[in-house]
Amino acid sequence: MRRTLYDADHQAFRDSVRAFMDRHVAPRHAEWEKAGIVDRDVWVEAGKQGMLGMDVPEEYGGGGVKDFRYNAVVDEEIIRIGATGLGFGLHNDIVAPYLLDLCTEEQKRRWLPGFCSGELITAIAMSEPAAGSDLQNVRTHARRDGDGWVLTGSKTFITNGINADLVIVVANTDPETGGAHGISLFAVERGMPGFGRGRNLDKIGLKAQDTAELFFDEVRLPVDALLGEENRGFVHLMERLPQERLSIAVAAVAAAERMLELTLEYARTRTAFGRPIGRFQHNRFVLAELATETTIARTFLDECIRQHNEGQLTVSDAAMAKLWTTDLQNKVADACLQMHGGYGYMTEYPISRAWVDSRVQAIYGGTNEIMKEIIGRGLGL
Ligand SMILES: Cc1cc2nc3c(=O)[nH]c(=O)nc-3n(C[C@H](O)[C@H](O)[C@H](O)COP(=O)(O)OP(=O)(O)OC[C@H]3O[C@@H](n4cnc5c(N)ncnc54)[C@H](O)[C@@H]3O)c2cc1C
Repeated sequence: MRRTLYDADHQAFRDSVRAFMDRHVAPRHAEWEKAGIVDRDVWVEAGKQGMLGMDVPEEYGGGGVKDFRYNAVVDEEIIRIGATGLGFGLHNDIVAPYLLDLCTEEQKRRWLPGFCSGELITAIAMSEPAAGSDLQNVRTHARRDGDGWVLTGSKTFITNGINADLVIVVANTDPETGGAHGISLFAVERGMPGFGRGRNLDKIGLKAQDTAELFFDEVRLPVDALLGEENRGFVHLMERLPQERLSIAVAAVAAAERMLELTLEYARTRTAFGRPIGRFQHNRFVLAELATETTIARTFLDECIRQHNEGQLTVSDAAMAKLWTTDLQNKVADACLQMHGGYGYMTEYPISRAWVDSRVQAIYGGTNEIMKEIIGRGLGL
């Protein structure tokens, strides 16, 4: 089905992003998978090509256009070549809104130019060993000390955790009240005494993505490390999580389309019992059903992106998009791997990596069970 989401400017941007991916990313991704992390220089190269901070005002070095479709183009092109190690989506789609909406002028001048040039890599640290879905119960805490703060605690599963130079950390600042009303956000910078990194975690997929534990041992923070308002951190998070979920959905549908494309090609060329395997009615029906569902997911998602650009995407809509598209992605991954037979289980076949990389999509950004909770609450239940 013809997509009507993008115009000629997005297409031109896509051409340049695609050329960048083919030239600077595809040839190196296998090497990064072995290393468990991408080289920082690819971030700087991406910065030069205008692929970081497209919605950051030009005065800070950004693209100056607030249009999520540009973010979606970058996310889609990353998935098109299966370059799941690049944490650009986390940086552009998830962290940028916090910096743009909550920073003071001085903070913007300090961080945004590096954010856009790729010299300052970012992360957001919400999850802890004992608090993932139950974010209100984070144990990491910050207490006031003189005119600043002292931060103590630990985080886990943090995307870009090893490479990050600036981390937005979710901490409790009101142990008396606790829960959602006692949460604040802090900007923690590389090199601050007491800020340490643990292991680059060994995952089943997203092999080139650095996902790490972070430790804060009495880290002294200046007063302006606080992002937004004290004890309103939970609200700041809730306001920005829909874009995070939309970003995950963009990757999900792009991945489903890619896996279908890979599998259609395989079904046309692999023969068994004297004919291409796609000619067996079972396989044809499986692919027909998946193609139908992916097309429906695509139309819903594109409408979500449109509404998000108009400021109309609700929390429930974003949760539906994340839930539906990531479940579909996993369904497509499993069926497509199956259709590759034994070759689907071999790492040299891209479908095998797409299958493992898909799994986490139903887990992070709020698990799909939590998405159902959100949607259910939206129904007044
Ligand atoms: C590769 C990767 C990258 C990640 N990147 C980041 C990152 O950059 N920053 C960050 O902060 N976090 C990140 N995470 C963490 C991720 O967001 C959490 O893993 C996720 O929110 C789930 O939390 P948990 O792992 O503690 O699971 P738990 O919260 O312990 O949940 C365990 C199970 O119980 C279910 N469950 C929990 N509560 C309910 C409920 N109320 N109703 C029904 N079922 C429920 C869950 O759905 C899940 O199936 C990442 C995780 C991974 C794997």
